[in-house]
This record gives sequence, structure tokens and C-alpha cells, in this order.
Amino acid sequence: MPDTASLPVLRHDWTRAEVAALFELPFPELLFQAQCVHRRHFDPRQVQLSTLLSIKTGGCAEDCGYCPQSAHYDTGIEASKLMSRDAVLEAAREAKEGGAGRFCMGAAWRSPKTRDLDEVCAMIEGVKALGLESCATLGMLTPEQARQLKAAGLDYYNHNLDTSPEYYERIITTRTFRDRLDTLANLRAAGISLCCGGIVGMGETRDDRVGMILALATLPAHPESVPINLLVQVEGTPLNGSAALDPFEFVRTIAVARITMPASMVRLSAGREGMSDETQALCFLAGANSIFCGERLLTTPNPERDRDRALMDRLGLVPMQD
Ligand code: SF4
Repeated sequence: MPDTASLPVLRHDWTRAEVAALFELPFPELLFQAQCVHRRHFDPRQVQLSTLLSIKTGGCAEDCGYCPQSAHYDTGIEASKLMSRDAVLEAAREAKEGGAGRFCMGAAWRSPKTRDLDEVCAMIEGVKALGLESCATLGMLTPEQARQLKAAGLDYYNHNLDTSPEYYERIITTRTFRDRLDTLANLRAAGISLCCGGIVGMGETRDDRVGMILALATLPAHPESVPINLLVQVEGTPLNGSAALDPFEFVRTIAVARITMPASMVRLSAGREGMSDETQALCFLAGANSIFCGERLLTTPNPERDRDRALMDRLGLVPMQD
């Protein structure tokens, strides 16, 4: 049994060998270590529920190989305009009534244009006025744009590293890993909290998963939220047809994220729809403590949300109060 007192606390100097060694641990040992770390920082019964609204869908100039919203691929998704402020705030009101503490707004842009950013800032102000925390994902940002979002009251910004630096150009060619790091630095400088993780199951090797976690865990400050996504394969995207990832390898990735970034929320993100309840339960055991509750905000009953609630009830998990 490991000496739990010697388990890592907050460190930013992880080495590739250390992260690789965690991935190599026997599964029960890895999960035990992850649970010890998790319990030191969080109540393991609590799971944060986040709600995401796509405020501008499709037609994106980027060529992310996993994304159906890229204009480079024919996936049947029509490009839409930025939603109206009223419609977004109505959705935020509903999210609040549904118990959400945080409202995330996503737009399929390479980076926001000035006029669009002004409009999103007005949305953020409206969301804040409802008493909700705000989060946005709008693509790359300049230092000035990050400051503008902060001034509007933005609490969190999602900007994923996607994959390892080594595998990056196999997935995206329209921007670089360095571009991602620059936007993250601009956000930090503006005082905005980060939601930053990546995607697995994109045909990468374990070494790439090691590289991705290493890149996240050695950022100057760990992201407050670390979404770990499992590729959702979409017809028309280049990554459709990728070999399926062993679910235990996904759980391992969650556990290593938990151990290396102990105080961060580790979010079980995309790909949950296709995951068994048992795999999701293992992810919670491995230290995941946040989920997206439904990909869309719906005005009608959301079966996925009901399934989430049912799973949480079966596991004795409770929503985290932000
Ligand atoms: S930047 Fe975002 S919306 Fe655009 S293609 Fe990449 S993942 Fe999709």
C-alpha cells in the first residue's frame, strides 16, 4: 500500500517519465492513488454539473479533425449566426431554474471579431446579472480581447490543448500548439480561470496521452477545470473511423489527470453518451468530479439529463454546489 502522505500535492515540474510511470501502474494501484489524491482535495461524492449552450454553431474556419463544426468537412451541420442576446439570456434563466450554477457559452470561431466580442460581452454581463458564473469558449484571443472579457465579468474560459504537442499537427493544421499556449497565457494575464484539457481516442498513442497530460500538468498554473474528452466519431470528419480506445485506457487518463492536477476539477466531457454506466462509474472512482449535463440546453425534458441523475442516484453521488 502506498504511503498516502507522500502522494503528490500541487506540482508543476512533472517529468515525462513520471507521467508515463503513472499510466503504467497496475489498474487497482492507479485508481487507489487517484482516489487518495481526490479525497485530499474534494468530497468524492460531489460532482459538478455544468451546462453548455452553443451560441454560434458550425462554419468554423479551423480544421480540427474531430469537429463536425469545421467548414472544411461535410458533416451536414449548417452554419448559424450568433444567437440573439435575448435568446441566450432566456436559456441562461432556464439553466438557473434547472439548478445550474455556471453557464457556458460556446461559439465556433477561430477567434472572435470585434463586433461579435462586444455582443458576447453583453451576454456575459446579462448572465452575471442573473447570479450565474459565466464561461465562454470562442477560439483564440489576443491579450486585449481577454481583458475585455474579464471586464465584462467572465469567470472561466475553455480553451483545450486538444492533444500532445507531438501529435498536434496530425489533428489540426490551421493553428499550432504554441497558439493555444499563447491564448492560455493571455487569459491568465487577464485574471480569467481556465478550463483546459484534451481529447483521447483520436488514434494517438499512449505516449501522446502522456504528452498531453504532461503539457497540462506543467502549465505555470493548473487549469481550474480539466475536461478529458473521448472522441465522438462523426461521419464526414477525418477522424471518423479511428480505432476505438480501450475504456480502461480512458479511465487511466482520468486517473493520471487527477493525480497530476490534484486540485483541479477533472471533467468527464464529450463521449459520455456512448459510454456504459460502468465505465462512467470507474471514471468517478478515478477522480472525475465534473460532467456536462446535456450537450444542449433544451426547453423540453432532456433524457440525457435524466440518465445522469439516475446514474448519480445509483452511485450515491450528489451535485456539487458551486
Ligand atoms: S475551433 Fe472549435 S468549432 Fe472550430 S473546428 Fe476546431 S473544435 Fe470545431
